[in-house]
Amino acid sequence: MAYKITEDCSSCGLCEPECPNGAIYEGEQIFVIDPDKCTECVGFYNSSKCAEVCPMEACVPDPDHQESQEELLEKKKRLHPE
Ligand code: SF4
Ligand code: SF4
Repeated sequence: MAYKITEDCSSCGLCEPECPNGAIYEGEQIFVIDPDKCTECVGFYNSSKCAEVCPMEACVPDPDHQESQEELLEKKKRLHPE
């Protein structure tokens, strides 16, 4: 399941460089995660980096983007064909 950023985000920017997929960007109000690029860090880390570094606990699983481990791995391969 892709992650999303809640309104608790303080726009500190800590999460952006941590994402192995470049899925996080600065939106108009808060930072945003592109669900097409978020793999829940599958294929890179055992846990979600953005959630780990966020001081506001604003990075949470997005129930609107449910995906299996297999689907997340497929997405990772698509984003990183090398
Ligand atoms: S969970 Fe991982 S892949 Fe998804 S946005 Fe956060 S750091 Fe990026
Ligand atoms: S680390 Fe948390 S508070 Fe900082 S920009 Fe990312 S989501 Fe927002």
